[in-house]
Amino acid sequence: MNATQALPARKLESAAERWSRFKPIVTGEDYLNSLRGRPLKLFLFGKQESNPVDNPLIRPSMNALRQTYDLAIEDPELATAHSPLINARVNRFLHIVESPHDLVMKNRMQRRMGQLTGTCFQRCAGLDTLSVMHSITYDIDQKHKTQYHRRYIDFLKKAQTNNIIVGAGMTDVKGDRSKRPHEQADPDLFLHVSGRNDQGLFVTGAKAHMTGGLNSHWIFVMPTMNLTEKDRDWAVVGTVPTDAEGLTFVYGRQSSDTRALEGGTIDVGNAEFGGQETLVVFDNVFIPYEHVFMDGEYEFAQEMVARFTSYHRASYVCKTGLGDVMVGAAAAAAEYNGVANVSHIKDKLVEMTHLNETIFSSGIASSYSATSLPSGIFINDSMLANVCKHNVTRFPFEIARLAQDIAGGLMGTLPSEQDLTHDEVGPILDKYLKGRADVPTETRVRMLRLIESMTVGRNAAGYLTESMHGAGSPQAQRIQIQRQMNVEQKKSYARRLAGIKSE
Ligand code: SF4
Ligand code: FE
Repeated sequence: MNATQALPARKLESAAERWSRFKPIVTGEDYLNSLRGRPLKLFLFGKQESNPVDNPLIRPSMNALRQTYDLAIEDPELATAHSPLINARVNRFLHIVESPHDLVMKNRMQRRMGQLTGTCFQRCAGLDTLSVMHSITYDIDQKHKTQYHRRYIDFLKKAQTNNIIVGAGMTDVKGDRSKRPHEQADPDLFLHVSGRNDQGLFVTGAKAHMTGGLNSHWIFVMPTMNLTEKDRDWAVVGTVPTDAEGLTFVYGRQSSDTRALEGGTIDVGNAEFGGQETLVVFDNVFIPYEHVFMDGEYEFAQEMVARFTSYHRASYVCKTGLGDVMVGAAAAAAEYNGVANVSHIKDKLVEMTHLNETIFSSGIASSYSATSLPSGIFINDSMLANVCKHNVTRFPFEIARLAQDIAGGLMGTLPSEQDLTHDEVGPILDKYLKGRADVPTETRVRMLRLIESMTVGRNAAGYLTESMHGAGSPQAQRIQIQRQMNVEQKKSYARRLAGIKSE
């Protein structure tokens, strides 16, 4: 925890040495190739996995990120923006928010990405961190005369030039929730500075359910909550390459994930795309000072987290893209059953759409209402961002319930793909699982499997669990809403109209 501790045996790579391993990525294929051959320490099913790119359980999560590169080529207006830092167009996932319009475009891109992948595409926490750190490093420098902002801009320029993915390691494992970091029985339960020398510092701890952990090229570590003076060693922000020495990834399971190992494309529901969460363990991982952006300035942790949540809770309009897929899947399933024109089906689709658009309204309103920060960038309206995320903790569950209602019980009782294609029982299933005569049985089965995947299968982690807990669980938004709801002001409106002069 301090300079007197024995230094761990780690390669003390400089920032330049770390960047020398990268070359600019252009296409989605380049991105996949950039993930090959990295000396990662990754555990999955009790074994070390040395080739995650070709692991059929992991690959769909990389495909979702690959799509962020492909979209930038297919629709540059939506998915790229001009960066004044390097005077070039950059992927919007690496762009610093210069105006409310940038936030609106970010939201539109997120919805589009949700429509294209039907899952979590894992890049938004990193994106939102980039803007947070722009303003926080500036503010710390103003107060402490530090050099963080210049260092940070250097990092950002390289990130944009190399078109890499930055992941956000924010959520500490937290141990005893009633205790602050310095009060924990084990100091590692919150990531902290575990040593330092004249070239940099070392961090130890673990970041929980990190979205797109091993699919990123660099990981930002940052505090997860407000800190006190005694938590100074935990007030650290820095960035490390995903293959840094001392990092261990443990892959998070998702329901029905092993269906991806069965070889087919039907039972997985969405064969191409999936999400990813990993536990990332840091054992004395070295960070050169050039890549340290907070080092003990504990009083900025709370504001840093608040800014992150303002951005990230509006980023959850991503789920409206998935909601669009759910509405489409339910409508198609009804059509295949021959009930597309039944009035209660149409009404349920209207309800699903209303809920989905309500989420989008709050997110996009939060972006249009953005305000500026001292470093010159813009940030979402906090109240509306919290309302957006709070809607997301509820409405996708109702949308999923209605989709299951429309899909019917067969969604949960379908035989396997192997039976559907079996010589003897396959034709029997083809006959008895048929809906409308002009719709192939396999078409109907595929649509039901997609709904299953998004509501109880692998992609339910992305559509439902993440909607509940990502960017803070529901109570975290209620606390923010309560803090900002200004009841006294509202009482004064009421008293005035009721003719009450004073109490
Ligand atoms: Fe992006 Fe949504 Fe996934 Fe968060 S949950 S990384 S906002 S797609
Ligand atoms: Fe998230």
